[in-house]
Parts: sequence; structure tokens; C-alpha cells
Amino acid sequence: MHRSAVLVVICFLLTAAQPTHTIAQGPGTTANVVVFEGSRLIVGDGSPPIENSAFVVENNRFTRVGRKGALQIPVGAAHVNLTGKTVIPALIDAHSHIGYMKNLTSGSQNYTRENILDHLYRFAYFGVAASQAMGTDFGVLPYQLRDELLAGKYPDAARFLTAGRGLSPIDEISPTNMRHAAYVVTTEEGARASVGELAAQKVKIVKTWVDDRGGTVKKLTPNLYRAIIDEAHKHNLRVAVHATGLADAKELLRADIDIFAHMISDVDDELVSLFKEHPNTVVLSALGGPRRTIYAPWLNPPHPLVAETVSPEQIKRLQGRFPERSPDAFKRGEDAWDRLARGISRLHAAGVKIGVGTDGGGQQGDQFIGWTMHTELENMVAAGLTPTQVLVAATRSSAEILGLDDLGTIAPGRSADFVVLDANPLDDITNTRKIANVYLRGRQVDRAKLRAGWTKDLTNAQSSIPIR
Ligand SMILES: [Zn+2]
Repeated sequence: MHRSAVLVVICFLLTAAQPTHTIAQGPGTTANVVVFEGSRLIVGDGSPPIENSAFVVENNRFTRVGRKGALQIPVGAAHVNLTGKTVIPALIDAHSHIGYMKNLTSGSQNYTRENILDHLYRFAYFGVAASQAMGTDFGVLPYQLRDELLAGKYPDAARFLTAGRGLSPIDEISPTNMRHAAYVVTTEEGARASVGELAAQKVKIVKTWVDDRGGTVKKLTPNLYRAIIDEAHKHNLRVAVHATGLADAKELLRADIDIFAHMISDVDDELVSLFKEHPNTVVLSALGGPRRTIYAPWLNPPHPLVAETVSPEQIKRLQGRFPERSPDAFKRGEDAWDRLARGISRLHAAGVKIGVGTDGGGQQGDQFIGWTMHTELENMVAAGLTPTQVLVAATRSSAEILGLDDLGTIAPGRSADFVVLDANPLDDITNTRKIANVYLRGRQVDRAKLRAGWTKDLTNAQSSIPIR
């Protein structure tokens, strides 16, 4: 080849290798290389924030992260000025129940593709990149949707992780609770076969329940949960358990349980020692229930994020629950909260890995999808963790617990999932609610469009109420 022809080819190749630069300002547009600069950057690993930061997103991943001015910026990159903002990794909800809640109703009749997607849009709207449904999914739909979301079919939605059908003793199941979806566990062989079916669906986490529901039902027996745990480990799966009693928690630790899906109601020295003997066992917070009964200032008047995503009837129903309570009931709520708060800060101090689980979408009807993530962060600070520790729990730790190795921190190679805030959550954890923008997989979520859709639904719901 003639020398000049070679040069032409080289020049052509160099030009072709240059990415095209579009500005990623409008929702839905994707620039190939964008530098976000000027923000206070909380990377999610507990290190001090980087003031006046810069980070580069190429396609859908972070490629460079550092200080503005010190970071090498690819030539021709688009620039987004985030001066005055704070950036955190997108949050991760490690315990939810997706697809059941729909306005005032909750049940399997609402478990449709449309409603599951609506919930995943809600998570994204609130800055949550991924949510783990805990054992209340059924049919093939959850696996189909999980795979479609991973393939990027719904770019404005959070990732859907499913534990498929949980494993429950017959006594804990009723046609009207979410455990109707579960495999009924009666024998060790049956339990092992059910775990095998879940492994074939490529779940990473198996869910089970060990709870006598205040002495009203017969709970799962140790031989059966031991079989579940043993079989899951043979398939390289982990087991998450709903078990809040102290004695059960100890037996489950001895049986090599992986994940407590809720904080345990009491913590004593023996429990702490058992956690030390099982350093890979983790705890998800799920502090919302008792906390909500004693403290919900966001409800009166409803926080704007609640008012724009939840129907007035649903808000009113929740508001109505509080004045009905007797002083005794309030005191019981306070006591339950105090025990949980002391317990979680003690386990955290003992080095137990804590992730954030909200139980969002659960059946009490007040665990609003997405919003509960932000109240849960506040609960954890109220329990004694620092905002930095709480953000690590909600990002890096939760990602690790769910096996999401491309999420959880803002670091080169990770998926570019992050939240731009108007205020610093290290000053006040409720600043995580001051969301300016959410990016998932390097793309800005169209929050205005999502909000407009919900507002329309809320208006329609309003106008369908007969006027008397
Ligand atoms: Zn749950």
C-alpha cells in the first residue's frame, strides 16, 4: 500500500475510534463520553467526600473518578456542571415486595407486568437502582421481567431482583397474605426439591420464614430450615430469613443462615458471639414498621415526594391510623423501636455487615415503594449510625449482599448509577430526598415524565370519586 494511503487509513481509523459527543442534558439522550464536574462526591465506600470532584461516564460506566482539575478528561467530552450539588451512588433496596400494592389494595390480583414495572419506575424515581423482592413472586413473569430489565429494555426502571417463590410452612400461609406465592414446606426432601427449582430459575437468594406470628401459628422447624440452607448452599445460593425472635436467630446462625431479612428484635452477648463465629452472615435493617408507628413527621402534611406519587386516599388512610392508637399501643411501639435501635447499632459496632431493606410494598399498605428507602435511611441514623455509615449500608453493603458487583460505589468500571442531590446528606440524612436527578446505566431517568404519569393517575382517581 502507498504510504499516503496508509496514512489516510490510519486517520480514518482514528476518526472512527473517536466517540461522537452529544450532550447528555435532556432526558433520554445518551452521550458516549460525559464528564460530571464540580459536585461534592460521596463514592459509597465510607471515605470522606471528594469536594469539587469530576467523574467521567463513558457509555454506561464510570471510567475515571477524582478531583476536578486533577482528572484527565477525554478530549471532546461533554461537560455537565454539578457545582453546588452532592452526588451519591444510586441506592439499593435489599428487601421489598414488588407488584402487590396498588393504591388502596394489596394482593395477587395486582401482580401484573404493568404494576411490577410501575413499582420499578417508582424505585428509579426515588434514586434506587435495584430492588430485591423477597419471596413473594410467582409464575414466570418475575424471571422474564428480571431478564428484560437486565438487558436494558426499560431504561427508566430499576433492576428487579427476585427470590422467586419463598419457602413457607403451611401455617404461615393464607390466601390473602403474600406467602400464598410460596412453596409449602412439609418435608426435607420437598424443601430440597423446591430449592432446586429456584436454582434452575437462576435466583441468587432463597427466602424463608421462621415466625410463629405472636404464638398464633406453627413455625418452620429447624430440621426443615437446615435442609433449605444446606440445599441452597449446594447450589451456591444464599438464604434470607424472616425471623425476628432472638432464640430463632441463634438457631439460624448455628444452621449457617446467610441473611436476616429483618433486624432481630433483641440482641444479647450470645447473639453477638454467634455473629462473630459467622462473619459472612448479614442483617438487613427493615426498621420501618415500629418506627412508623411512633414517628412519621413526613405524613402531616405529606412530603411533596409522597404527595406526587401516592394517592390522597392512601395517604389519608395512613394518617387515620395514628390518632386511633391508645397510649399503651404507642408505648409498645416505642419499646419495640428502642430495642431495634439499640440492637442494630450494637451489631454494626460489632462488625456485622448491615444492608438496607425497606420491606417496601409490604402488605400493611403504608410502605410506599421508593419513598420508604428515604425514611429507612433516617431511621438508621435515629438508631445511632452516622450518615456516612448509613449511606455505605444503602450502597456498597447492599450491593455486596445482593451480589451486584457492578453497583454500590462510584468507581471506574462500575455501572454509572447515581443520584444528584441539591443538599448534603452528611449534614442531614433527610437531604437524600432533595433529588435533582437520577442516572441509571449512564442515562438520566426522565423523572418529569414519570411524575406526570402518576399525577394524571392521581387526578383520574380523584375525579372518579363521586361528588356528594
Ligand atoms: Zn418482607
